[in-house]
Amino acid sequence: MKCISETVDVVIAGGGTAGHIAALQAARAGVKTAVIEAGTMLGGTTTSGGVNMPNHFFSTHGPVVQGIAWELYTKSKKIEGLPIPDYRKRRPVETPGYYSYINIPIYAAIAEEEAVKAGVNLHYHEFVADVKAVGNQWEVTSLGRGIKRLTRAREIIDCTGDSDVLRILGLGVLHSKVPQPGTYQYKIENIEHEQIWEKEVQALYEEAVQNGTLKKGDFAYPNMLPFKNYLDHGGHNGTHIYDADTSDADGQTRANLEGRARMLRMFKFVTSSIPGCERAVLKTMYPHALARETYRAVGEYIVTKQDFMQATDFEDKVCNAFNYIDLHSKEKGCDVYFHESRDMLPTVPFRALIPKGSSRITVAGRIVSAERVAFAGIRAQCTCMAMGQAMGAAAALAVKKGVSSRDISAGDIVALTVEHGAVPV
Ligand SMILES: Cc1cc2nc3c(=O)[nH]c(=O)nc-3n(C[C@H](O)[C@H](O)[C@H](O)COP(=O)(O)OP(=O)(O)OC[C@H]3O[C@@H](n4cnc5c(N)ncnc54)[C@H](O)[C@@H]3O)c2cc1C
Repeated sequence: MKCISETVDVVIAGGGTAGHIAALQAARAGVKTAVIEAGTMLGGTTTSGGVNMPNHFFSTHGPVVQGIAWELYTKSKKIEGLPIPDYRKRRPVETPGYYSYINIPIYAAIAEEEAVKAGVNLHYHEFVADVKAVGNQWEVTSLGRGIKRLTRAREIIDCTGDSDVLRILGLGVLHSKVPQPGTYQYKIENIEHEQIWEKEVQALYEEAVQNGTLKKGDFAYPNMLPFKNYLDHGGHNGTHIYDADTSDADGQTRANLEGRARMLRMFKFVTSSIPGCERAVLKTMYPHALARETYRAVGEYIVTKQDFMQATDFEDKVCNAFNYIDLHSKEKGCDVYFHESRDMLPTVPFRALIPKGSSRITVAGRIVSAERVAFAGIRAQCTCMAMGQAMGAAAALAVKKGVSSRDISAGDIVALTVEHGAVPV
C-alpha cells in the first residue's frame, strides 16, 4: 500500500452537492484545497446519485442562489446548446415541480474541469477514515484502493452528507426517530404507454401486489398516485426504502440490495404483464441507494420549523434557503408544503454550520443543523450548494487571517461569496 502525505490549507470531506462548490470557492479565494471523495466524480447526489434537479435558483421575486452553482449550471447548459430558462416565464416557482434540470455527464465534467483549473487536489475513491486534531492542524487519514493518505490542513469542511467527520470526532449529531426514506433510482425505457388504460393497468398492478409478484413499495407512491402515472412518466422510478440507513457501508449495502431486488421485480412485472411493454428495456440504474437524511450536525444553533416557515431574519445569515418543505413518510407518501407566505425568504445562519463546541471545522449540505421539518426544507440542492460556497469562503478567510473559521463574521463570508457571484443576503 502506498502511504502518502499532503499538506493543504483546507480539506473538504465529500465532494458532493455542497462539497464541490465549497472546494471551488476555497481554491478560487487563494488557499490550497483538497477534496476527499469516496465516489468517482464531483456532485454526489446531484450527479452520481441521478437527482439532477437542483432547486431553487430563483424565488417568485428573483434570484436566490447564484454564485458558483449558477455559473456551473449555466456553463453546462451552454455546452449542451440549450438556452438558460427564463425563470420569469416558467410555471410559478411556488410549485414543487420548479426544477432546473442538469445534464449529469456535462455538469460533472465541467465541475471537475473548474476544480482542476482552480488548483483543487482531487482524491476520488478515497474515504475519510480518521480525523485528529494535532496542535492547530487537522490530520485526516483517508483510505483508497492501494492508498493510505495523511492530509494535514488548517480547516476542514464536513460535506459527507452523513456527518462522517463529526461522528469520527465525537461531535454532536442529530438523528430523527423516523428519518425520511432512502431511495433507489432506475428507469425502464420503451414503455409504449399509449396502449395502456388507467383502470386496467391499476387492476394488473394491484393483482401483482396481492399475488406477491410485486411488493407495495416497489412503486414509489402507491398511496398517492395510480400506477399508470409511473408508466406515463418515462418509466423513471425512485423506490422509497423506509428503513434504509446509508450512513455506513453495511446499511448502504443492504439498501442497494433491496433497491435492486425491487427494480428487477418491477422490470419482470412490466415486461410480462403490461400490454405494450413487452419490449421495454432496463438500461439506466444509479449505482447506489440515496439518503435524504441520516446524521446531521448539532450546531451552535439548530434551525427550527418556525425559523424556516416564518423566515427568521438571522443576524448571521450566510445564504438563502428558498424551498418547500419536502417530507416523505410511509403513511402519506410525499407531504409537500410551502412557507406561510410565499414572499418569505428563509436563510441559513452561520451558527447552524458550526458544530457545537468545535473549532476550525464547519459543515455544509444536508448535515446542516436543523430540526426535522426545517431540515426537510433546507436540504434542497441549491441551498446545499450555497452553504458549500459560504463555508468554502469561511475556511479561506480563516486560513488567510490565521484564525478559526468560527471567528469569521457572517458579513465577511457573504462579502467574499458575493465577489464570486453569490446573491447578497
Ligand atoms: C431521492 C432524493 C430526491 C431528491 N430530490 C431533490 C430535488 O428534486 N431537488 C433538490 O434540490 N433536492 C433534492 N433532494 C435533496 C438533495 O439532493 C440533497 O439534500 C443534497 O444533494 C445533499 O447534498 P450533500 O452535499 O449534503 O450530500 P451529497 O450530495 O450526497 O454528497 C456527499 C458526498 O460525500 C461523499 N462521502 C460520504 N462519506 C464520505 C467519506 N467518509 N469520505 C469521503 N467522501 C464521503 C459521498 O460520496 C458524496 O459524494 C433529493 C434527495 C434525495 C435523496
